[in-house]
Amino acid sequence: MGKTLEAMRALQVIERQLADVRRQFSSSSAAVAVQQRRVDELRQQFQLLHDEVLAHQKEAGAVELELKSREEDVNKLRQTLNSTKTNKEYAAVLTQLNTLKADNSKLEDKALKLMQEVDQVRTETEEVEDQIAQAEKSLEQIRQTSAEETTRLQAMLDDLQTRRKSAAEAVPSKPLGVFDRIAAIRDGDVMAKIEVVGRKPPYQYICGGCNMSITAEHANALRTRDEIRFCDCCGRILYMEKETSPQKA
Ligand SMILES: [Zn+2]
Repeated sequence: MGKTLEAMRALQVIERQLADVRRQFSSSSAAVAVQQRRVDELRQQFQLLHDEVLAHQKEAGAVELELKSREEDVNKLRQTLNSTKTNKEYAAVLTQLNTLKADNSKLEDKALKLMQEVDQVRTETEEVEDQIAQAEKSLEQIRQTSAEETTRLQAMLDDLQTRRKSAAEAVPSKPLGVFDRIAAIRDGDVMAKIEVVGRKPPYQYICGGCNMSITAEHANALRTRDEIRFCDCCGRILYMEKETSPQKA
């Protein structure tokens, strides 16, 4: 392998490690975000249930008030009943009184049902409150772990960046530019080894990155020349290792 390709290979080793550390960084912060979302959802659920309790309570209060005023109507009708002068008048007031009492009884049932609903939703609210407490505790733990992880990863990143800088100095600027461009697109996966298939000529060549066939021209050129050649399929920079060259197989 030529000097430039050799230097790029060394850079590739560090570049892969860098990409791996960056992935760990994002998965660590993603874990925090996922748990934060869980807490937010539970809080929203709690708010909805809380609002439901208030609405039921308000409705129950209105029914209670109406019942009170109807009780007064019942009392008034009882007094009227006692002061009626004719049987016909008595019967009419009595019918009115009974109708009112029957309506009131329905209203009492409604008030009772509403209060039961309030109790039920309140129980659900308490359950969600417990879930929130647990989820928040877990979020705190995940945050803590993530913070420790971040410190560890940052140290690794600093070290790798220093090493990358000195490895990059061994690569001429034009090939380095190409390397950086592919690294940015392919998440640090820039170079691919040419795999040689077969025991005797004609050999077949495969890109170790994408496993597609490579022309013999690429392989032959890279045996002797230190130049940048790309896989026609995946665009990685190709290189050949001495031990894979058929002459030594
Ligand atoms: Zn390829």
